[in-house]
Amino acid sequence: MQTYLPEGIHYRMTKRFKLCIYRLLKGAGFFYTGIYGCITVCVVTMFILCKPVPLSAAAPDSTEPVRIVIDPGHGGENLGADHNGYLEKDMTLIVAESMRDELEKYEGIEVYMTRTSDVDMSLEERIDYAEEVGADFFFCLHFNMSAEHDMYGAECWVSAFGECYARGMDFARIEMRQLTDLGLYDRGIKTRLGSKGQNYYGVLRMGDLAGIPTVIIEHCHLDNYNDEPFYVDYVWLVRYGKLDATAVAVYYGLVSDELGLDYSDVTYDPTPVPDHVVRPDDSPPDQMSVVYGEPYQTEGGTWVDVELSASDSESRMLYYSYSTDGGASWSERYRWQDDQGQLIGDSILTDTIHTAVPVSTDRDMYIVFKVYNLFNLDTVSDVYYLPKMIPDGDIYSEGESASHSSAGSGDTGEVEYTQIERGETSPESEGVTPLRNMSGLMLFGLIAVLSLAIILVLVILVYVIVDNRRKDNGRSRDR
Ligand SMILES: [Zn+2]
Repeated sequence: MQTYLPEGIHYRMTKRFKLCIYRLLKGAGFFYTGIYGCITVCVVTMFILCKPVPLSAAAPDSTEPVRIVIDPGHGGENLGADHNGYLEKDMTLIVAESMRDELEKYEGIEVYMTRTSDVDMSLEERIDYAEEVGADFFFCLHFNMSAEHDMYGAECWVSAFGECYARGMDFARIEMRQLTDLGLYDRGIKTRLGSKGQNYYGVLRMGDLAGIPTVIIEHCHLDNYNDEPFYVDYVWLVRYGKLDATAVAVYYGLVSDELGLDYSDVTYDPTPVPDHVVRPDDSPPDQMSVVYGEPYQTEGGTWVDVELSASDSESRMLYYSYSTDGGASWSERYRWQDDQGQLIGDSILTDTIHTAVPVSTDRDMYIVFKVYNLFNLDTVSDVYYLPKMIPDGDIYSEGESASHSSAGSGDTGEVEYTQIERGETSPESEGVTPLRNMSGLMLFGLIAVLSLAIILVLVILVYVIVDNRRKDNGRSRDR
């Protein structure tokens, strides 16, 4: 049986066994030890297996230092991400040096780096080196880029298997919490499988084979304006290094007299070792629906409020985007995030969010929404037809052709809007099936019918009361 338990990492489970056996041997003879020992071991095992014990990080053996390897991604000919003069291979090296310098201020840790200069190394060479120095953990530092330059945020990749998955998750949770505290968007902690069902990323595959838990840290994206404030200067890279080092210190419960930091009391619920492959979500969001409000005007233009709902049984939503031309072109990706703020890793964000779409005053709109889950798989909504909005009595007014209908004048004395009635076969609608938002219309209809019913009942009531009184008056006059 292959063990992923690296030397130097001892779990409380092992300690409990040792303690239990030692006491039994000391206090009783072999006969009773045999009987009671078996019972105790069974009970303790069941207890531990049924209820995960919060452990102080990965609880390194006090006599053995923790050995970690920092791997600055890419190098030499292998540039990595290359954007606007920013080279990933140079950035990862700066982060790695800062991480090493910070970690060396802690006691009980030995820090190694796969490269300290601008050299190209194969993934095998990197993992071989980690094996050589007896690494307990392997940290791959990277920066990200996406094909369409539309993604942003921080993410971590971990092995999909066994002990390497569990320890990878434990570390990545600490790391992601710190990265998102900086303000980076949480793209999650994920696994990815290749065509043969193995880890997709070579370094995770080889880390597994060597029995060394490995995490790939993608700090942020270099090619999207959302992340630009998070890497543009040297200070940020040094900050990432310190942050990564702190995550390691927290994970191992390290102490630094020099920094005046003590993480030895930090506890967390360790991720249970999975007995199956932790598969990534390979299907798009199961369901999505969109409810549109009435258009309204602000100083910034005309808007329509939108309530977006989506769900996925396997992963959470990450981004949404929209199109106003029936899906021909798309907006940037927006955060799928509610008022509760950031949630970390694999936790579930809300199913429903609220947003607003700017409404065009010079063309009909065919609005479509797209939601993306954590694994970048998307589901597209139905098309919503919104006729061109013309401010009433304004330069846009087309007089005769305009017919009045609803819309958001509101109590702030804003411009009244008129919707121009248009046939469903306008040029833009070709190839698109205009669908009015039925749920919004139905709700409106229901409210209208209910209001009418209430008014009717009130009128009848008033009529009956008045009629009765008249009759009473008539009777009393008769008497
Ligand atoms: Zn990279």
